[in-house]
Amino acid sequence: MFNLVKGTHDVILKDARKYSYIEVVLERAAELYGYKEFRTPIIETSELFLRSVGNSSDIVRKEMYTFDDKGGRSITLRPEITAGTIRSMVANKLFAMQDYPVKGYYCGPCFRYERPQQGRYRQFNQFGVECAGVIRSERDAEVISMGYNSLMMLGFKNLELKINTLGDEETRANYRAALKDYFAKYIDTMCDDCKERFKLNILRILDCKVENDRKIIDGAPKISDYLTEKAKADFDTILKNLDKLGIKYTIDPELVRGLDYYSGVVFEFHYTSSAGKNYGAIGAGGHYNNLVHEIGGPEIEGCGYAMGIERLASVMEDDNLFAEADIDQFLDVYIMPLGERAISESLSIANLIRMSGYTCDICLENKGMGQMFKKGERRDALYALIVGDNELDSHKFVLKNMLSQEQIEVNEDELIDKLDSLFAEDDDDDCCCGHDHHDGECCCEHEHHEEGCSCHEHQHDENCSCHEENDSECHCGWHNKE
Ligand code: ATP
Ligand code: MG
Repeated sequence: MFNLVKGTHDVILKDARKYSYIEVVLERAAELYGYKEFRTPIIETSELFLRSVGNSSDIVRKEMYTFDDKGGRSITLRPEITAGTIRSMVANKLFAMQDYPVKGYYCGPCFRYERPQQGRYRQFNQFGVECAGVIRSERDAEVISMGYNSLMMLGFKNLELKINTLGDEETRANYRAALKDYFAKYIDTMCDDCKERFKLNILRILDCKVENDRKIIDGAPKISDYLTEKAKADFDTILKNLDKLGIKYTIDPELVRGLDYYSGVVFEFHYTSSAGKNYGAIGAGGHYNNLVHEIGGPEIEGCGYAMGIERLASVMEDDNLFAEADIDQFLDVYIMPLGERAISESLSIANLIRMSGYTCDICLENKGMGQMFKKGERRDALYALIVGDNELDSHKFVLKNMLSQEQIEVNEDELIDKLDSLFAEDDDDDCCCGHDHHDGECCCEHEHHEEGCSCHEHQHDENCSCHEENDSECHCGWHNKE
């Protein structure tokens, strides 16, 4: 037996389905806003992160997995994916046409050498977006609202958006000077990290979580008193646009974020579950002025955010937000062949079912009916298809709903039509209106069940990964198959 490396975890079976559900919804949300996917390497040169994430950040100071490869190059397992995404935009000359903004989304593993605890791993997954170009405040507001709406699409309610601005260069220079004056009086009593932050990047002190330091930080000058007219106007425009979009926020004057590249607006999405458990930040981001140039690109700005998939999944689990996602039902059909003849026929029956877009598995172990039902239950099958000698002779199968135990006889050549109508009925049952048939005059006010429904079962067109225009062609497994 080999143990897991400390701080890592396996994501398997239902958990893996939950992760991919989250990823599919977040990716689709990003595509709705015109973002395209970026898949960049997990290993990058260490220099990339020193330049971007910055040497005053906790990440660079203590959390990076850095090693020399056999050629003596310093390599780092990416602690975040913004730097690699921007590096790839530069390396692939995506800024050359000056067709701004360049919009990219990413999803994948990140590595940080942190103390493992609930919601904190050494290998974890991030989904994020970067929008680089000439970034007006309206664009910042668009990015923030996109993060917010993506979380809404996952079913998150009661989100708390915390927001602040780090202003422009002039703002930060004046504010740093004010912080220096203030903290100089207390720094000897503060933690070792703060002593180092005092020298490297004094803004970072505001991020300290040590209780004794927090009391001192509470009395520190607030950035809002140092904003230049321009920085103030930009922040106001962002807030006004968030108001227009109906997004509630709390201004948090101590929010500075842990990466050195931020300037302008910074934000975090916080969540407290319905049971009152606070998960802290499930996602966070901000505006950056110099990062693209620092990484070798033109002098353009950017805005982005990242979300931790592990944290999203655990909140969704606690708050039962996967209930809408059909995670539990895995196999549409489990074929139960009775005897050798049926076993040998079952592969082609399964093939037909699978090629019609239904998930299907076969019991090839030649078991009795009782044992096959147990296997079907363990595989989370919805329907059992019973095939024996009699069924093969008469070209009629028995189809049994494993949940309701109802069973019907189906002609072999009508099997797929029957599955189509059964799954269509199942979807009608799931509508928020509770009616079996949804005919346009329904109390739910949705003219077309598939298009307008809020029940999440039918947002095929908006959320689905399969890109089929038509519901009948959907194979994604998350949505209806009418
Ligand atoms: P925290 O304050 O929790 O350490 P952070 O500011 O370091 O978070 P970011 O670098 O902004 O986090 O990363 C974005 C998101 O990635 C976080 O909001 C969180 O959901 C997730 N995340 C960060 N570090 C970890 C980790 N070690 N394990 C799991 N998820 C993480
Ligand atoms: Mg951190």
